[in-house]
Amino acid sequence: MRGAVLYAPRDVRFEERGLPKITKPTDAIIRISATCVCGSDLWPYRGINPVTQPPPMGHEYCGIVEEVGTAVTTVKPGQFVIGSFFASDNTCPNCQAGYPSSCRHRELVGDAQAPLLRVPLADGTLVATPDLPSNDMIPSLLTLSDVMGTGWFAADAADVKPGKTVAVVGDGAVGLLGVLSARQMGAGRIIAMSRHESRQKLAREFGATDIVTERGDDGVARIKGLTNGIGADAVLECVGTQESMTQAIRSTRPGGSIGYVGVPHGVEFNGEKLFYAHVHLHGGPAPVRRFLPQLIDLVWKGKINPGKVFDLTLPLDQVAEGYRAMDERRAIKTLLRP
Ligand SMILES: [Zn+2]
Repeated sequence: MRGAVLYAPRDVRFEERGLPKITKPTDAIIRISATCVCGSDLWPYRGINPVTQPPPMGHEYCGIVEEVGTAVTTVKPGQFVIGSFFASDNTCPNCQAGYPSSCRHRELVGDAQAPLLRVPLADGTLVATPDLPSNDMIPSLLTLSDVMGTGWFAADAADVKPGKTVAVVGDGAVGLLGVLSARQMGAGRIIAMSRHESRQKLAREFGATDIVTERGDDGVARIKGLTNGIGADAVLECVGTQESMTQAIRSTRPGGSIGYVGVPHGVEFNGEKLFYAHVHLHGGPAPVRRFLPQLIDLVWKGKINPGKVFDLTLPLDQVAEGYRAMDERRAIKTLLRP
């Protein structure tokens, strides 16, 4: 089979790779129905993380179980399943506490931009849908593998509750789905920070009540202006830069909470400023597996349609163009179909 491999900055190739095989009795092989390009894939794509050995790419996936190892009991061939980018056993103390992305036996699933994928710890990792989904539901189900689960975690970690005022820093796919999550959790007011018209439009569609285009001091001033000079109750940091983290901390009211899910690149904290900011900080790689049953149910019942973040769909063999379009911000997020 052929799959995506990153050779050097801006050099993604679709080339021959070995067929994945069951290597442990707890593995499953799934036939990918859809996969996509993640904002975090753009870090190595842009050369910000050095490429030492060309890695296979892709960590967002859903599809039909093709084969399972002898120890797998909860999923079976023919089922449609979704899993997280971190495989987890769903039984260790960290999983039990709700943090499967810190599972003591976690394994990164890192080669999903291909027609077939080996998923370790299949019983703990994969969740089956109630039935085979219709074709038009697949994009929304795919988002639950990472981007929607991550937006949801940002809102959950920022303690979004009914009636609260929420600010979202970042208008990438995660930020936009953070808006959708905050709406679903009952937020009263949702301020999306975005400078791009197409993204502002989608943010409004997902539930944003206000758009702030300013950044830095002006951005903070605008958020304060919209919140009686206090700051937002809950702030979702969905970028991972020093600028976005500083923006988030300064936009939060004393006693408020920040959910941060942008993978940090060069982010540092000033202890004294943090001390006087009086904010809660909670974030990290999203414990996507924790949210899968609830989010599958919401998509299945048509209550949320996170698949709208995909504004470009390509056949998998055009994966290189999928990366280019996101890198050049021509696309918010690229869906790939084998
Ligand atoms: Zn675990």
